[in-house]
Amino acid sequence: MTSKIDKGRGDLQTWERMKPRNYLDVDQNLQRVLQMYLGEGYNANWPMLHRAGEMAATRMDELARRSNLDDGLPELHRFDEFGERKEEVVFHSSYYDLGAMIWSTAVVAVLGEPGNDVLSAALAYMISHNGEAGHVCPVACTCGMVKLLQAVGTEQQRDHFLPLLLQTDYSRRMHASQFVTEIQGGSDVGANDCVAVPDPESGLYHLHGEKWFCSVADAGVFVVSARIEGAAEGTAGLGLFLVPRMINGVNNNFGIRRLKTKVGTRSMATAEIEFWGALADPIKPVEDGFKNLVGIVLDTSRGLNAVAACGMMRRAFLEAQTYAAHRLAFGQPIMEFPAVQEILARMTVLQQAATAATMRIMHMGDLVATGQAGEELAAARRIQVMINKYWTSTVCTDVVRMGVEVLGGNGTIEDFSVLPRLYRDSMVLENWEGTHNTLCAQVLRDFSQRQLHFFWIEELREAASRVDLPQLEPHRHRAIEELDAIAATIEQLLEGDPLEASLYFRPVVNRMCVLGAFVALLLELCWESGEQIESNKPMVVDLFHRLYVDRCDTGEVDDFPTLVKTLASSI
Ligand SMILES: Cc1cc2nc3c(=O)[nH]c(=O)nc-3n(C[C@H](O)[C@H](O)[C@H](O)COP(=O)(O)OP(=O)(O)OC[C@H]3O[C@@H](n4cnc5c(N)ncnc54)[C@H](O)[C@@H]3O)c2cc1C
Repeated sequence: MTSKIDKGRGDLQTWERMKPRNYLDVDQNLQRVLQMYLGEGYNANWPMLHRAGEMAATRMDELARRSNLDDGLPELHRFDEFGERKEEVVFHSSYYDLGAMIWSTAVVAVLGEPGNDVLSAALAYMISHNGEAGHVCPVACTCGMVKLLQAVGTEQQRDHFLPLLLQTDYSRRMHASQFVTEIQGGSDVGANDCVAVPDPESGLYHLHGEKWFCSVADAGVFVVSARIEGAAEGTAGLGLFLVPRMINGVNNNFGIRRLKTKVGTRSMATAEIEFWGALADPIKPVEDGFKNLVGIVLDTSRGLNAVAACGMMRRAFLEAQTYAAHRLAFGQPIMEFPAVQEILARMTVLQQAATAATMRIMHMGDLVATGQAGEELAAARRIQVMINKYWTSTVCTDVVRMGVEVLGGNGTIEDFSVLPRLYRDSMVLENWEGTHNTLCAQVLRDFSQRQLHFFWIEELREAASRVDLPQLEPHRHRAIEELDAIAATIEQLLEGDPLEASLYFRPVVNRMCVLGAFVALLLELCWESGEQIESNKPMVVDLFHRLYVDRCDTGEVDDFPTLVKTLASSI
């Protein structure tokens, strides 16, 4: 006879066995969003996407778990056996195996063709079901360098680096990192003190100074911000440089002071690094360093930060949803309890909203890159990237925490599920690539100094005008009403004291993000309707509208019990 304990253990084992074996197959929302944005490219790229979805749910999952164990974390090997300085970072074998798998998805390589941001994001989204996994940051940094070279690299820089950066073969690839932060200032990039001394003969520079947060410390090439010797204080005096790790097999005059012990992203090596005259190739014009850093390098990694947040939220939802179907309490699966259904419904609504907002941004990037849109869309996109990085990273932490709640005590146990690691990684997503206040401050500056709010407002107004289904008219009307209210508040803030504006701006940014996501969801719904696709999107839109756009209490939402029950169990 089966004891109660055996039954309880058996239920959990069943849960483990019933988990999806392909993250694309079970993500009907992602499939539809990709069909909408990729068009014919969806079928053409299906084998690549499907393979990534399968690997992410199976072997990548195992390797990410293994490489994140305490005894798998990166180690610093400073010198070789002959006493030569190497500054080598050595990882567990599972880390390299995982890297080989991730690079083979072509998540970076597809960027060799302009107009593939959505495709690359789709691959990164599935990979990120395993959290940062030690490789999502290297992928983002490498993508940032690819875009930097494509936009402003010299022919020589492009010819030398791009074939290596765009490799799918991990053993032959070069990957990149981005070193900006110094101990005296991360948000305050203008406080950078690392100096670049020109070498008039070669046109190259020598870097001296120290960087405080250097992720992907094992990279083959570093993108480094440094003050050009004698140049102005603040961000105006900063250049951006390519610093190869080795030159002719010899360390390029840098030292790793130590590897940091972090709350999340633990299997990826983040170091403190000092430069003792490292040879540095400038990205020209060198005085555009800060502009290129923010406009290309950080813009890319902020976009991918949001993609990672969406993938992590989706994994948290999958873990919680499948668990709720198998975990019994008081004689029934916990999925049957309306209060559990509400948590799951909120998780999927927020995840789909964040994915809608993020994929729309990726699509905007593709339109700009392929010449189908111009500077106005690029300006609107710049704002949307910054606010969306902030919003998706905070929503990610919330959603993962909800997932932990659904698993109860088991949700807090490191080897029971991926959720504790996702939670720790999500805290890093919130803090790197610009903290919340830094991003809000940059957006406020873009509004007051460059009037970019007009572009953001007009783009969203135009997008809302494309919501043309009669049954969605009340939603379209509400979106425009909210947009007008936000626009008025922005104007009001810009007229007042800038310091005071910064105090009141974050709630406005929250509303901007929610509205952006709402319009993105509505556009998806219009597309689905045109394709005669039936999905849970109308319910997602309804709940997102009432709970997050209108900020209603749940008691005010029509048919709330049916909505949460249906959404909790739908895929
Ligand atoms: C795991 C990890 C890896 C990282 N990897 C890299 C890397 O590879 N390369 C790199 O360059 N950096 C990296 N960073 C650094 C990261 O980008 C910085 O931590 C971030 O930019 C914030 O800088 P800071 O830590 O110095 O915080 P601070 O600038 O000291 O900020 C502290 C707090 O003050 C707030 N604040 C600062 N200025 C203002 C203001 N004007 N108004 C209101 N509030 C303000 C901030 O929002 C924050 O909440 C990494 C960070 C982490 C956690």
